[in-house]
Amino acid sequence: MATVNEALDRLARSRFRSGFSLSRKDRAYLEEKGEEVIRRHAIDFVRQKLAPAEPLHDGRQTPMSGHPVFKAMHATACCCRGCLEKWYHVPQHRELTEEEQEAVVKLLMAWIGRQAAAGGKQITGKEAEDAV
Ligand SMILES: [Zn+2]
Repeated sequence: MATVNEALDRLARSRFRSGFSLSRKDRAYLEEKGEEVIRRHAIDFVRQKLAPAEPLHDGRQTPMSGHPVFKAMHATACCCRGCLEKWYHVPQHRELTEEEQEAVVKLLMAWIGRQAAAGGKQITGKEAEDAV
């Protein structure tokens, strides 16, 4: 996978991917649980929904809302194995390695971190760079 910054910049240029943002409810949840709990949820979701060689309902396994990590998965093209292959050239039909899972979690948390820092408004790649 590309570096987190490269990936986020590429994603910011996609109209579909950059259309996702944390809702007020997502933010409240984030604040209530704290980053470490959210990171653990991200690790669990990635392991359950993305890591298996043949994930259950692949392509439809990630809800569009209901958890900040779900939003992050869509916004970063880590929502299913098809998107993961298209965006990051991770082959389908084999289990994700520990390193790949960690890279995905890192990207998800980076997206969430930028969203939280931006206070909910849309951020472009340029602004995201400045926000780091
Ligand atoms: Zn997908």
